[in-house]
Amino acid sequence: MLYGVKDLRVEDVAVPVVGAGEVLVRVKGATTCGTDLKIFQRGYVEKIIRLPTIFGHEWAGDVVEVGEGLEWPRNGTRVRAGNSAPCLHCAMCQKGKYNLCENMIWLWGAYAEYVKVPARMVLVNTQEIPPQISYLEAAITEPLACVLHGVEEAGVKLGDSVAIIGAGPIGLLHLLAVKKMGAKKAIVIDVVEERLNVAANLGAEETINGGREDVVEKVRQSTAGYGADVVIEAIGLPATWEQALKLVRKGGVVLEFGGCPPGSEIKVNAEQVHYGELTVRGAFHTTPLHFRKALDFIASKTIDVRPLITREMKLEDIGKAFEVLSTSKKEIKIGIVP
Ligand SMILES: [Zn+2]
Ligand SMILES: [Zn+2]
Repeated sequence: MLYGVKDLRVEDVAVPVVGAGEVLVRVKGATTCGTDLKIFQRGYVEKIIRLPTIFGHEWAGDVVEVGEGLEWPRNGTRVRAGNSAPCLHCAMCQKGKYNLCENMIWLWGAYAEYVKVPARMVLVNTQEIPPQISYLEAAITEPLACVLHGVEEAGVKLGDSVAIIGAGPIGLLHLLAVKKMGAKKAIVIDVVEERLNVAANLGAEETINGGREDVVEKVRQSTAGYGADVVIEAIGLPATWEQALKLVRKGGVVLEFGGCPPGSEIKVNAEQVHYGELTVRGAFHTTPLHFRKALDFIASKTIDVRPLITREMKLEDIGKAFEVLSTSKKEIKIGIVP
């Protein structure tokens, strides 16, 4: 149970009672995420999460109880679900912008033995896990779904050069995705050398340490002076949002992916947007369609997410896991196993 900033306690709570259309799942694996770490450290995502609560949102497990009225899933089905389910009938959903649903429901509670999946989520965002992948791999469906939505919005094309700011879990997933989409050159920027090494191992053609090197200059050099075709910001700070604008070529696309603190503003050069025909766009969350695609990619090993799980820990050590993530930049994702 998360009570407040850095106040995480292991407690016994009642197993949720299942109603009509709902499903109870025994969690077999969960993965940590930057959003969870943000909530743990700053608590400011409180608008979408009410404390105290069980938290975590990337998980997979076995169905152990099926509510009335459901033909699927059955007891024993291996599933992953959520962390969101759009309503399908609001103005945004009717325009196909399911990630912007006005009545989105969210599910927290991955770091627990049991999680109850709400009825709407069972219908629109629960998938059976193919036998060849582990629960922990399946748990990574959620962040990969967000990334697939992002790279689709950015319109990455065959032969593109792509600069990615941030080599955390989200930046690395972007790297894996753009390589599969045919990026000719992926340039990953971070200030932590260990993370840049991981990026290089995962296929980045070039890595830049922003703490020691001139990022703008280096990106220019490796793109024949033009700048990258696509720049993806995967950190969520105004400074790096602005840096992204300096790395893109004329006519290129900047995808501002990382969520900045509330109230953040950035400076955009109007001349660059006008004469340089710049596209600057945001991306938020993802859609049930992308959850499906992400799970399929993980299952087929088209995108191999296993290298992102750098450590496994027991559920009762969840507090320690977040201490580790707070202090060590070496860990990418920690697999939490009940
Ligand atoms: Zn996540
Ligand atoms: Zn909706």
